[in-house]
Amino acid sequence: MIEHRKPIPVSEAVQKVMEHAHSIGAETVSLEHSYNRILAEPIVAGHAVPPFDRSPYDGFAIISGSSREASGDNRIRFEIVDHIGAGKVSAEVLSGNQAVRIMTGAPLPKNADAVVMFEQTVESTDSFTIRKPFEKLENVSLKGEDVQQGEVVIESGHLIHPGTVALLATFGYAQVQVAKQPVVGILSTGTELLDVSEPLAPGKIRNSNGPMIAAQLARMGLGCKMYGLSMDDLDQSFTIVKKAAAETDCLITTGGVSLGDFDFLPAIYERLGAEVLFNKVAMRPGSVTTVAVAAGKYLFGLSGNPSACFTGFELFVRPALLKMRGAEKRYLPHTKAILAEDFTKANPFTRFIRAVYDGEFIKPAGFNKSNAVASIAKGNALIVLPGGTRGFEKGDIVDVLLLGMEEGSALWKL
Ligand code: AMP
Ligand code: MG
Repeated sequence: MIEHRKPIPVSEAVQKVMEHAHSIGAETVSLEHSYNRILAEPIVAGHAVPPFDRSPYDGFAIISGSSREASGDNRIRFEIVDHIGAGKVSAEVLSGNQAVRIMTGAPLPKNADAVVMFEQTVESTDSFTIRKPFEKLENVSLKGEDVQQGEVVIESGHLIHPGTVALLATFGYAQVQVAKQPVVGILSTGTELLDVSEPLAPGKIRNSNGPMIAAQLARMGLGCKMYGLSMDDLDQSFTIVKKAAAETDCLITTGGVSLGDFDFLPAIYERLGAEVLFNKVAMRPGSVTTVAVAAGKYLFGLSGNPSACFTGFELFVRPALLKMRGAEKRYLPHTKAILAEDFTKANPFTRFIRAVYDGEFIKPAGFNKSNAVASIAKGNALIVLPGGTRGFEKGDIVDVLLLGMEEGSALWKL
């Protein structure tokens, strides 16, 4: 008997997946290992930035009041009483027309309240003249102008990117509290599959999904356990899936989730006693994408078709893993773009098309069937066309999900 599967809308499927994602705790890592992790504590300013009033230029620190009468006809002379670079503190306390030669980043000497840039002076050996008055705090970088002491600068749940690393270093976070990394496994099922290093043989193809998913994980800062290839054999696949599910927080399988004679994942979920969240999504490609949970573990059953597999990871696996890592921004960033060519094929399901986006226009990245692999390599975005009876024309404004962006979006916008 043919099983009848009821497709659910993509947004509902995403929501179901997200409801089951739970945080898996935090750990401490050194700053140098914090890149691409998710903050599990806020970054709090232990001191002001800058920590003292300082010069933003190379020049001379003066008392602004002493420059009040300066003009083109009345150049005012200052006497240079000290010379400091960044990292040094002048012992001088300025008075009258005294000045300290000061370099970028050095603290202002006592009583100084303005900095004259070199190009605003005419210099002689131990003095210089200026031709304009300087205001109080002119060319001064004030203590706390960037960050105030005690301020929460970045909240917990944010991705640590290079700018975040700079901030952590500024405040002396040699150790950082970050979310633990879920352990993710990958198993590619299919009797037709060969390893990358094997020569082609009749009826066989190389496993491209396994390495692709490993790379999709790597780009979000996650490693994986590779469970290799499994034949389309119920007992063999069950044994590997059971073992892999026990060893991981999230097992991603590819292939074997359809209703074909050799698609054994549905039977495996049943044997495992897994709760199937859905096994049909109103989307192309990847309508057979299945997500199940067993003993608190995720089982993502992605379609073996490369494009469907890729899209299933980006739409469902990625946000779930980000939620498990406590990330606030979990979804692919969304934008709108102008369709650069006609797409006339209508479909009752929401269609995701691998595409090339240039910041304004977007066009399909090439051959667009669910079994296509070249268009995955060429694309940097997904066009999202709502299901319905009509095709789309060049010039139409369409929804776009951006791939490979450092940080996601806090909202699912489709
Ligand atoms: P399935 O989802 O098992 O029905 O497979 C759908 C299509 O994807 C078939 O043409 C498979 O040969 C192909 N396929 C399955 N697994 C992979 C894989 N790991 N890498 C590349 N193609 C695959
Ligand atoms: Mg198969």
